[in-house]
Amino acid sequence: MDLKNLQKHVRTLVTLEETNAPVISCYLNLEEGVSSYRNILDERIGLLRKSLRGDTRRYFVEAQNSVEKFIATELFPDAKGTAIFSRAGDHPFFLPLQFRVPLPNWFVVNSTPNIYHLVELKDTYYRFVVMISTKERAHILEVNLGSVTKQIWKERPELIKRIGREWTKEHYQHHRKEREKQLIKDKIQILDKLMSAGGYAHLMIAGDPQMTSRVRNALPQHLAAKLIDIVVASGRNRISDVVAAALKSFVEQEERESQTVVDRLQHMVNTHGLAEIGTDPTLDALKYKQADVLVLAKSYNPGPGWSCPECEAVGSNRAIHEVCPECGSKKVRSLDIKEEMVRMAELSSCHTEVVEHSDFLMQFGGVGCLLRYRMSG
Ligand SMILES: [Zn+2]
Repeated sequence: MDLKNLQKHVRTLVTLEETNAPVISCYLNLEEGVSSYRNILDERIGLLRKSLRGDTRRYFVEAQNSVEKFIATELFPDAKGTAIFSRAGDHPFFLPLQFRVPLPNWFVVNSTPNIYHLVELKDTYYRFVVMISTKERAHILEVNLGSVTKQIWKERPELIKRIGREWTKEHYQHHRKEREKQLIKDKIQILDKLMSAGGYAHLMIAGDPQMTSRVRNALPQHLAAKLIDIVVASGRNRISDVVAAALKSFVEQEERESQTVVDRLQHMVNTHGLAEIGTDPTLDALKYKQADVLVLAKSYNPGPGWSCPECEAVGSNRAIHEVCPECGSKKVRSLDIKEEMVRMAELSSCHTEVVEHSDFLMQFGGVGCLLRYRMSG
């Protein structure tokens, strides 16, 4: 699964029309095998079977059967996380997704799919290019959502061998340095073309320190600006290990990037710039498509909110709103605020940045957003 495909699926999920049949959103962590999630899953299913009534219950059982069938037969052995969306009824819907990175165990039933964990995964793992350079090999790989999706270039080892054979040792030694310089230059040129063609914004370099420092020094400025980290690896390391190390570093760097976004948000809030902070102002900004970046603390948990199906108003504090404060409608419904926020963000192409922890954000409940523009008045 690459980022582009996931984005397409998220789009499908956020635009799925509501029907009277409920949607199951089933996220599973597959790192430790069936025994690690089965109990939690059964507990949630048992609870929901008891609380649902009539048609809703019947639709739920039908949708759950499809989920069970998929879990029993279709999971990839190397998948670490899965997200399965299932709905029965007149407009059935079934979308199973599998990833090489873990997801939490999370099972909910709602009128629409629950996408928060997909959005968090997208933000955490994203995609990057890694160039591996050791004495034995050179590779350029594309890493998407934690898995190698493409080997976009591989140096032909026979070329290096031939040079060694054809030249005498002295000749070889004499030209070795120049030749190596040229090889690095060529490689970077290929890298440059591939990165701009694929629209990549992040680069990692891996290999033995001597090689990586040469590559680093030869990078043109626009590529150096995309360089995230340098990972040490030797020719003995398997490619999968090198990629795992690069991924770990990428996730750490991503968290640092998130902190930078929070700093920007704080600065904007302090200087009355283009930002909103707190649950209700953020909901409003998302509703009017003003938000450019939604910034969420991982632990953000605002409690149930409300929405009005008649005038589309939304807000926090479900408990004190039995009647819509905007239009007086009595059809006010409960709303998962965090879900609604990421859904609205996806619909308006607003990026969601998930932050591991931020004292500043938590002072305001754990959420804020940067704005594209401010509404007057
Ligand atoms: Zn209303």
